[in-house]
Amino acid sequence: MQHLTPGQQALLKTELDLRLRQLDRRVTEHHQGTSRAEHAHQVLEQDGDDAPQREGEREIDFAISDLEARELDAVGAALARIERGQYGLCADCGATIPFDRLKAEPWALRCVGCATAAEQRRR
Ligand SMILES: [Zn+2]
Repeated sequence: MQHLTPGQQALLKTELDLRLRQLDRRVTEHHQGTSRAEHAHQVLEQDGDDAPQREGEREIDFAISDLEARELDAVGAALARIERGQYGLCADCGATIPFDRLKAEPWALRCVGCATAAEQRRR
């Protein structure tokens, strides 16, 4: 049933672990690091009421966090599927996801057809 060789799966798991660490670090930096320092700097340079600009910045913060949160979810889900031995199978139709697709996107949970359909549903 498992169409990936142990070597291929190990390679993809390494990629996922790496990605998870990268995202973890980026989310941490994003919340505690440069963005806050830059924000403080911008506030210092402004005079008067800076509420509207702060509002806009907060929206950008959320947009980045959303994307990162979605990627974190996908990477976490992919790692969980490795644990359950379901990795590389489409979450919707159960078809095997080609190794080439997984190599480009190790956190892919769906075959190309179902991923496109899910994208269209989201819009
Ligand atoms: Zn599918």
